[in-house]
Amino acid sequence: MVNKYNAPKGTEDLYGPSARMWDYCMDVARDVFERAGYEPIYTPIFELTEVFTRGIGEATDVVGKEMYTFEDKGGRSMTLRPENTAGVVRAAINASLTANNAAAKLYYGGPQFRHERPQKGRQRQFYQIGAELLGYDSPEADAEIIGLLWHYFVELGIPPSSMRMLVNSMGCKNCRPTYRDSIERFILTNADDLCAECVRRADTNPLRALDCKNESCREVLSEAPRLMDALCAPCADHDKQVRVLLDLVGIPFEQDDSLVRGLDYYTRTVFEIQTDDGQGAQNAIGGGGRYDGLFEALGGKPTPGIGFALGFERAALALEAVGIDMAIGSDCDIYVACATDDLRARAFSVADTLREDGMYAQSDLGDRTLKAQMKAANKAGAAFVAILAPDEDAQGGVTLRDMHTKDEVFMTYDALLNLPE
Ligand code: AMP
Repeated sequence: MVNKYNAPKGTEDLYGPSARMWDYCMDVARDVFERAGYEPIYTPIFELTEVFTRGIGEATDVVGKEMYTFEDKGGRSMTLRPENTAGVVRAAINASLTANNAAAKLYYGGPQFRHERPQKGRQRQFYQIGAELLGYDSPEADAEIIGLLWHYFVELGIPPSSMRMLVNSMGCKNCRPTYRDSIERFILTNADDLCAECVRRADTNPLRALDCKNESCREVLSEAPRLMDALCAPCADHDKQVRVLLDLVGIPFEQDDSLVRGLDYYTRTVFEIQTDDGQGAQNAIGGGGRYDGLFEALGGKPTPGIGFALGFERAALALEAVGIDMAIGSDCDIYVACATDDLRARAFSVADTLREDGMYAQSDLGDRTLKAQMKAANKAGAAFVAILAPDEDAQGGVTLRDMHTKDEVFMTYDALLNLPE
């Protein structure tokens, strides 16, 4: 119903099937990630703004245009987290999780906030699930993280044939600056054939021009120098080994020269997983990369890291498209109904005892008639209904109705309250 107070533009209330879908996505995350030794971490929804400006980078769209920033009562600039990696790394530094060369395997799930133009699969408050592998710079770490993202979606129920895993390398602080300059020169030389945004980026963040969505820009930029050809020997070797490992464990992937992720902290391996199932213009359901410079940017000791984040709303669209829906309602083993008002309190207490014994049990909390209670039991999907009525009560028991077979038997209160779970 439209009301004076609606949820803010770009946000959604999760309830019924969509709330169940979020729980399902987190359950699968817990299962898949914990099998590989990852542990949960939950960081604050807001951080000092600097965590994001330093961590993500001033020249990015996320920091430049999309953050929800406010001043708190102490005059400090705070920002609702637009992503979770910077917060996780900040927390890992504070808690010394990677001190003395220790490694940390972490995962999270929760809301993120970006002031974007809302559209299908793009919200202002959206939910991400992600994993971060801190302390390893090996190709094995990259292959494990990419494999984890792939397996997550497979176990969630998205057909592998409908997904594409795109992989690229962004180089490192040794080889990227030279490449960055060559892209800047390329953009300026071809400025007449590129959009204003690409030309503006020549100065601030030229690599981002490479993933301009404009068809004519894409055509021009397909002639630009390739980052893969400009990698230094250690980066090229790292990249080669990641690919060998992905082949070894059977993760299908494609090289994508135009894949440059929006956040500044990425080094070397970057990846994105796409599906067309159920998506609008936004078909990236998850992505991530290596961020070996992030710890230092946030005041920590140099520590390598790699991770990914996946979008819950887009995962849900993909699942709906392949026919995976979440049932509404919780389980109900038994509904305790009463035929007369003076047995209402008794029914309430029987249901309470059954729940204490571990059963999923409900009773009427209003003043419904027995007929209405039977309807409610049906709606709740109750397997059994215990009907409290004066005659049976006088004999110390209830009528137990099997809602599936419709069979009814007399059962004493004693037997009912000692049912095996
Ligand atoms: P990013 O943090 O930009 O690397 O995004 C990782 C994933 O989060 C994307 O692949 C999307 O699935 C999802 N995502 C990013 N921004 C939004 C948004 N505004 N609304 C919904 N999902 C998003």
